Amino acid sequence: MFDVESIRRDFPILRREVHGKPLVWLDNAATTQKPQVVIDRVSRFYEHENSNIHRGTHTLAEEACDACERARTKVADFLGASSMLEIVFVRGTTEGLNLLAAVFSESLLRPGDEILLTEAEHHANIVPWQFAAKKTGAVIRVAPVDDNGDIILEEYERLLGSRTRVVSITHISNALGTVMPIREMTAMAKRVGATVVIDGAQGVPHRRVNVQEIGCDFYVFSGHKLFAPMGIGAVYGRKEMWEQLPPWQGGGNMVQHVTFEKTTFAQPPKRFEAGTPALSAAVGLGAAIDYLNGIGLDAIERYETRLLDYALEGIRSITGLRLIGQPRDRGGVISFVMDGIPDLEVARMLDAEGIAVRAGTHCAQPILRRFGLESTVRPSFAFYNTQTEADAMLETLRRISLRR
Ligand code: PMP
Repeated sequence: MFDVESIRRDFPILRREVHGKPLVWLDNAATTQKPQVVIDRVSRFYEHENSNIHRGTHTLAEEACDACERARTKVADFLGASSMLEIVFVRGTTEGLNLLAAVFSESLLRPGDEILLTEAEHHANIVPWQFAAKKTGAVIRVAPVDDNGDIILEEYERLLGSRTRVVSITHISNALGTVMPIREMTAMAKRVGATVVIDGAQGVPHRRVNVQEIGCDFYVFSGHKLFAPMGIGAVYGRKEMWEQLPPWQGGGNMVQHVTFEKTTFAQPPKRFEAGTPALSAAVGLGAAIDYLNGIGLDAIERYETRLLDYALEGIRSITGLRLIGQPRDRGGVISFVMDGIPDLEVARMLDAEGIAVRAGTHCAQPILRRFGLESTVRPSFAFYNTQTEADAMLETLRRISLRR
């Protein structure tokens, strides 16, 4: 049913070789490869539709506007939002989280308020909140994870209280692969009246998302981790939330009337989209979503779970290899260290075989330090990866472990 060989033919880059070996792309948590339909859609935009978005002035502007708004509708449907007006286009997760932290600083956060994060956050979901805390006098609290890398729900609940104004948590940890129980965590945060933000950078590629079922106020993701171009991402926000928030960046597109004395602002989502948007990337994101819907997100999750279980079983059998994090539910990512061999060296030896994995901090230093580490080796999977590729990785790792 899930024809991975036919899927692989959709991704031209998977045909290339590295050091004379077929490319094995296991760095999907950093960025994903693009199917031909996405590449073609971006080309078609530049070949036929390229224009800025001043609706009503000429045909190409009209077409570019329509294409962008169709992409917005696709993102809204993909996330289960109730309206396309709930989707703000941004450059990616980092920009989306910075946007939220900045506008919350202007409107929501007061001295002594608490911003609750988890120990497993990416720097993009830590640093913007530090800026917000510094600006407003709010305080950051951190919910710990256990030795498996799972959130300790009792501790999380204990940290929630009447001062908790914002809870911002990752859907899936990019360093350990932990799938957080975001529905449960959101419900708990809602009981104390907090505004809930989900960092979905690693969530959307691996799980079907429905923001209304999750119950969150905001959900942020990057297109490039979802088989779409770089430079585009989206922030879902509940309509009533966006409407209460002040603008972030100022410029064209986000205004109604401007005089030197006073400016009135457009309604959301435009209020939060100053300047020329990444139009070609937005239509590319729409094409990526169409492509994923064509395969089916549930089928993707089932296939990936089997593949990940297979790779994990192999990894556990390699002597000298220490798996970091054994979460109950895992999405996409495996993190490990090899006793006696630096992570970068492991990655370079894999690269010599054409196998791309990341070694480093994964922009998540606090969670690695929780495990007493500065870095790990991180293979990360997507639905176009195969058991044969997992075998190639495992075989090389076995060879490396024998050299210790
Ligand atoms: N959050 C998580 C969990 C991530 O994995 C990443 C990307 N590594 C980001 C945020 C930041 O995404 P981007 O670099 O696309 O803005």
